Amino acid sequence: MTERSSSAPRRVSIFGSTGSIGCNTLAVIEHLGGRDAFRICALSGKGNTDLLARQAIAFGAEIAVTADENRYTALKAALAGSSVEAAAGPAALIEAAERDADWCMAGIVGMAGLAPTLAAARRGADIALANKECLVSAGELFHREIETGGGRLLPVDSEHNAIHQVFEQDQRHSIERIILTASGGPFRALDAAKMASVTPDMAAAHPNWSMGIKISIDSASMFNKALEMIEAMHLFAMRPDQIEVVIHPQSVIHSMVGYSDGSVLAQLGAPDMRTAIGYSLTYPRRPALPVERLDFASLARLDFEAPDDERFPSLRLARRAMESGGLSGAVLNGAKEVALEAFIDGQIGFLEMADIVGTVMERLGTGGGAVSIEAVYEADRTARIIARELVAGRSARSIAT
Ligand code: NAD
Ligand code: MG
Repeated sequence: MTERSSSAPRRVSIFGSTGSIGCNTLAVIEHLGGRDAFRICALSGKGNTDLLARQAIAFGAEIAVTADENRYTALKAALAGSSVEAAAGPAALIEAAERDADWCMAGIVGMAGLAPTLAAARRGADIALANKECLVSAGELFHREIETGGGRLLPVDSEHNAIHQVFEQDQRHSIERIILTASGGPFRALDAAKMASVTPDMAAAHPNWSMGIKISIDSASMFNKALEMIEAMHLFAMRPDQIEVVIHPQSVIHSMVGYSDGSVLAQLGAPDMRTAIGYSLTYPRRPALPVERLDFASLARLDFEAPDDERFPSLRLARRAMESGGLSGAVLNGAKEVALEAFIDGQIGFLEMADIVGTVMERLGTGGGAVSIEAVYEADRTARIIARELVAGRSARSIAT
């Protein structure tokens, strides 16, 4: 990593700055001193070029990148008269990630976040990882790039951030298990028959967290927790059987670590991503943030229950992927992204998402295999092709009936 004097403002880049994580990251930066305390290197978005341009101008970014090549002209026009450079397309995103930021927020949703995040890690930036798909699809590779670059990997996903806060690295030998908490989403108590007919709008209404639409629907199907189980295994180098999930509807305990003396350490807080983002931004110091403080007397109680992997088969699929290792995370994620988009587009029903992912995993064998970046992209591509065929088959059947 580039040496800088400790008094120089930190250089930061935010990939996916126009999304939920990205906007929260800029809000934390603003709160911690804005342009006086940080230099914004790159900001990126995809569809919303007006917002991207407004953010880049307000924060004095060096470059703004839209992932959509067709939006270059719109972005350039929105930046007219400012000193912000404009760029567009996936290659420009990687080039921006290779700039010498000290810290990068990986806040792009989905597999599209992998290439820029790997580039920033390889170059040596500290990576604040919100995008879970990177680790799910390419866990080993990702660790290798972090080691090559020498930066730190700081989890932002609230559960993994919580674990990071209570995972005593020097006591790793006495850590027995990680307990991921899950709110259970909007359909925690809904019976299976009713789940078949829920709509994307119903699925996107998360009871506790305000997030992007894809992760909100993944929370409803518990595919979000499935991805997080695989993410936790890679992040903390655990065996599959050391990762547990417990339903905790209040989302106050963000996750826990169990030790060999019977102690369980937990991190608690209001469901507000700014805590995890701030933690990753100033680690190992804790920033002062204007988030809601917990009032235990008014909370009164915290509830827990076992997850139901009959109604939420995504959890079983995650176990299968964790035990198979190799490219199975990439297969699960690629198929899931296609199934999720098909559900959002109204082509398949809610419960069909897990059916499709399970079938793709069976067809591809989910086996090991050398984990090179080419192999990861190939596994992702093949999983998507098969998932699209399955979606097409199902939508054709539902039109015929
Ligand atoms: P979002 O949909 O609100 O924002 C996604 C961002 O990625 C936007 O800036 C969008 O323009 C950009 N983007 C979308 N498609 C792209 C593509 N093909 N190429 C490049 N950029 C693209 O999503 P979000 O809720 O902010 O989530 C971002 C990531 O963080 C996801 O991986 C999610 O799982 C993870 N995460 C989010 C939260 C949360 O509270 N929102 C919590 C934990 C983890
Ligand atoms: Mg999470």
